[in-house]
Amino acid sequence: MAEREGAKAMRAHDHGACIREALAAAEAAAARAGVNFTPVRRRALEILLESHTALGAYDLLKRLEADGFGGQPPVAYRALDFLVAQGFAHRIERLNAFVACVRPGEGHDPAFMICRKCRAVAETAGPAAEGGALAEDAEALGFEIERTVVEAEGLCPKCRELQP
Ligand SMILES: [Zn+2]
Ligand SMILES: [Zn+2]
Ligand SMILES: [Zn+2]
Repeated sequence: MAEREGAKAMRAHDHGACIREALAAAEAAAARAGVNFTPVRRRALEILLESHTALGAYDLLKRLEADGFGGQPPVAYRALDFLVAQGFAHRIERLNAFVACVRPGEGHDPAFMICRKCRAVAETAGPAAEGGALAEDAEALGFEIERTVVEAEGLCPKCRELQP
């Protein structure tokens, strides 16, 4: 089966293109939704996009502060709330941290592969996606899925290579 777009996060890839595409997609989605993609929200997304690694709210706040956006916690929390609500970023519950979405603006049910060593996160399709067992059983039962949380923890290819 072909690898999904999000899995490349854990392989060598053109990350510059990755950042540009995600930012452009987020901008287009914000314009479509008629929401205000303010400089601090945009900068917060850029910081999350720098690597495919989960970043905590506190670390984001320190980065925003260094960029002159102020050091009050609500600055980071409000920006993160916006990014998550718009689907531009996802919260990784296991790490209490955030990652940029690899296909912002598209409605989707994500699942994550999380490296326990380097905190790299790769996004894939979640179990509520069409054709999955969960989706099929829920439909048969008449259960309406509102949200799923799938976080697979393990070792990314890079960290596995470094294993003794
Ligand atoms: Zn990338
Ligand atoms: Zn996503
Ligand atoms: Zn790793």
